[in-house]
Amino acid sequence: MAATEDRPEVRLVAHCRRCHGWLLSPRSVAEGIGPTCAIRERAELRAAGSPALTLFDIAA
Ligand SMILES: [Zn+2]
Repeated sequence: MAATEDRPEVRLVAHCRRCHGWLLSPRSVAEGIGPTCAIRERAELRAAGSPALTLFDIAA
């Protein structure tokens, strides 16, 4: 498929730390979590986060 590429295809394989699904995009691999799970994780952190963080977020 990548016949025009000389570089060997080295693909980092990683699993989402939340749902353990395969991470396909380089960004997801770098973050260790899939995009959907990242959004959910942020929402959960916000919901369960400390009031200081929330205030800080509002102030910002
Ligand atoms: Zn996931």
